[in-house]
Amino acid sequence: MTIALSDVLLALENVVGANNLLTRPDDMLAYETSARGQPGRAAFVVRPESTEQVSQVMALAAAHGFHLIPQGANTGLVNGSTPDMSGTQGVLSLERMRRILSIDPVNRTAEVEAGVRLSQLNAALAEHGLFFPIDLGADPMIGGMVSTNTGGARFLRYGDVRRNTLGLQLVLPDHSGTIVSLGSDLRKDNSAPDLKHLFIGSCGLFGIVTRAILELHRKPRQAAAALLVPRDDGAILQLLETFEAEAGDVLSAFELMSREAMQAAFEHAASLRNPFAHGALPETAILVELSTSQGAQEGGTFLNDRLENILAAAWEAPGAPLLDAIVGSPEALWTLRHALSEGVKAAGDLVAFDLSFNRSNVTRFRAAMRTQLKQRHPEIRICDFGHIGDGGLHFNCVFPRSGAAALSQEEKARFRQETIQSVVAEFGGSFSAEHGIGRSNLEFYRTYTSPVVQLLASKVQSSIGAEQTHMS
Ligand SMILES: Cc1cc2nc3c(=O)[nH]c(=O)nc-3n(C[C@H](O)[C@H](O)[C@H](O)COP(=O)(O)OP(=O)(O)OC[C@H]3O[C@@H](n4cnc5c(N)ncnc54)[C@H](O)[C@@H]3O)c2cc1C
Repeated sequence: MTIALSDVLLALENVVGANNLLTRPDDMLAYETSARGQPGRAAFVVRPESTEQVSQVMALAAAHGFHLIPQGANTGLVNGSTPDMSGTQGVLSLERMRRILSIDPVNRTAEVEAGVRLSQLNAALAEHGLFFPIDLGADPMIGGMVSTNTGGARFLRYGDVRRNTLGLQLVLPDHSGTIVSLGSDLRKDNSAPDLKHLFIGSCGLFGIVTRAILELHRKPRQAAAALLVPRDDGAILQLLETFEAEAGDVLSAFELMSREAMQAAFEHAASLRNPFAHGALPETAILVELSTSQGAQEGGTFLNDRLENILAAAWEAPGAPLLDAIVGSPEALWTLRHALSEGVKAAGDLVAFDLSFNRSNVTRFRAAMRTQLKQRHPEIRICDFGHIGDGGLHFNCVFPRSGAAALSQEEKARFRQETIQSVVAEFGGSFSAEHGIGRSNLEFYRTYTSPVVQLLASKVQSSIGAEQTHMS
């Protein structure tokens, strides 16, 4: 049965109250616009404050056939959290569900609502000497992080959100808005199939995350960091192997930054300090970090000493893989790393790819694409950077915004298709490493994800009543 929008709005208002149902264009603008500035048009924005309210909203959506887009902090980069331009989709914002329900320092777990920000959680955990170890240059909400399975810059050490999630509370998109809890605060539990994994990283496809029970880690008490300048692309993986062999489990990040990405960050953020001698940016730099929750005394060797020793080994290694190394304060070096994303966004017309590869293929891909693309598009700036320690690469191609070298929408679409074709077919990589599918990757999901997997996903979707989602 379909009913008039005004009746839907009245029913939603009865659930969340008039203040939490937004319909005026000015009020909806921030919820309609994606993190990269792409516009959308919402029919309304609904902001429940509890799981019970989410359940009632989802039941109304199922009964009346309206399409809801779940939204956390809206920092996602693949147009998954904002509506399209049709004006027919509603936004379901989880921003009012921001209670930290419990912190259990003995079990090293926390239970939080979906709208809790990562920074809010880590601030509350600090007094217990704990933290949630997913680290990135944005401040997302936990529900959004679960739904995209955020990876981030310390994946190499701690893994992604999936690896650090013990339990979820969800609302299914069926006629009852069924509330379901999957998993718990137990680390070991094989008493049932572990269905929570269906919901992690599937961007709201099967239901709305309302709560999560997260595994926490001891906060590092020492860290040491350096910028490595590799001899050439071939030396990058050699340095990674050296660090993995010598640093063992205190290696917490190995992040690649291309010269053009760093250049874009310095152009954008005037206050950013350039750590290289005379400001001369190398072709590639690697931010390497060691960290441990042991204090300096207990740890015996200070991490700075350990870093210096590994660097000495790298200087001496066969083929001299290291051209230069700058040891610096971890905070200052991470400030540069986290400034890249905004710098690249401001540098021109950005065509961004979030890719992952078998580690051996990342550098092969970079080299091949640099040659090919610079021949075809002499004015392109390849501002790539990423989590190369885990095979991740944010491959950012920046074109001029105007003039002969600017790309039309059709040219951009073709450029994206050709690049992804090469990623998947030639290099065996993934077109979505850690940002999810969203509208930006939907055509690649349909083209490259196995038809059997797509069929299975749609069967699961229809069996739990998920007719409303953006991938149906
Ligand atoms: C500067 C910058 C740096 C970034 N760096 C990284 C990085 O290093 N690693 C990385 O993985 N990502 C990175 N991202 C991407 C983004 O921050 C993550 O994907 C983040 O986890 C999204 O969380 P969010 O709360 O903003 O979710 P949103 O953007 O609001 O939503 C993301 C997706 O999840 C769905 N969703 C949101 N909440 C829920 C819910 N409660 N239930 C069901 N579905 C929901 C949305 O519909 C959408 O499909 C970066 C983004 C920026 C802007």
